Amino acid sequence: MGKVSQSTIFTTHFMAIGYFIVMWVISLWLEIFEIIPFLFQNSNQLLAVNLVLFIYAMISVVGNYYCLVTTDTSCETNGALNEERDGVFYCQSCARNSPPRAHHCSLCDRCILGRDHHCYFAGTCIGHANARFFVVYDFFVFITSAYVVVINLIYLHQIIGPFIPLSFEAICKIVPLLTVFKLWSGSVTLFHFLVIVVTWLGIMHVLGCSVCFFFQMSLIFSGQTTYEWQHNIFIYDQGWRKNFLGICGSMWYLWWLFPVFQMQKLASKEEDNFTQYNSEISKYI
Ligand SMILES: [Zn+2]
Ligand SMILES: [Zn+2]
Repeated sequence: MGKVSQSTIFTTHFMAIGYFIVMWVISLWLEIFEIIPFLFQNSNQLLAVNLVLFIYAMISVVGNYYCLVTTDTSCETNGALNEERDGVFYCQSCARNSPPRAHHCSLCDRCILGRDHHCYFAGTCIGHANARFFVVYDFFVFITSAYVVVINLIYLHQIIGPFIPLSFEAICKIVPLLTVFKLWSGSVTLFHFLVIVVTWLGIMHVLGCSVCFFFQMSLIFSGQTTYEWQHNIFIYDQGWRKNFLGICGSMWYLWWLFPVFQMQKLASKEEDNFTQYNSEISKYI
């Protein structure tokens, strides 16, 4: 990989992370203060259930994102092999030996344990230490986006539609480029234009995150990274159950249910499991 300039890396990360933050804030505001109260104005119970579940899912998104970004995926904290050993990869950039399955990331400028890929939206690599947060993050972005798309379409159907039966006029209001014209001509307000944009972006998130989630989960179950999948390497496969627990930990159901503050502490408790996992891998060299 050629040398990428620091300013290009910074700009790309800034745009991707900024996109995540702006979308999260706009979606939260739009659904909590405008769309959910409008759609469920006739039933306090339905209003409360929808608000609570949506806020829970949005906290899960940001909690997993926080853990994803702040978890150290490099080899430095995980006992890198500094002594000379046959068959161990020596990284020229880090000027040290790297553990098995580690790969150097030129964007992070260090070796990542169990490196899968560099995620621009997180501004860091997805590796062994944070893969668990990545899949749960994907899952909740998928869930919240699907929910947003459905209720936004119901809202738009009632406000600027109807979409059933679908008329040419209604299509013109929700097809992005035509919507700009409708906004300019005054038949769609700026607020409804924002709802339409968020809905289309939501559809993209649903498609992107579902593909990403199922692919990453299949890698976790098969005990592979993307690199190993591309090169048909199965030597680290210990059976789907062990593979899954090796990445997600024995208390995986807690990560999925309560993704916020205690996750970092629980992650450090899993350290023994993690070291064990490393030494098991080492046998294969
Ligand atoms: Zn390196
Ligand atoms: Zn990286």
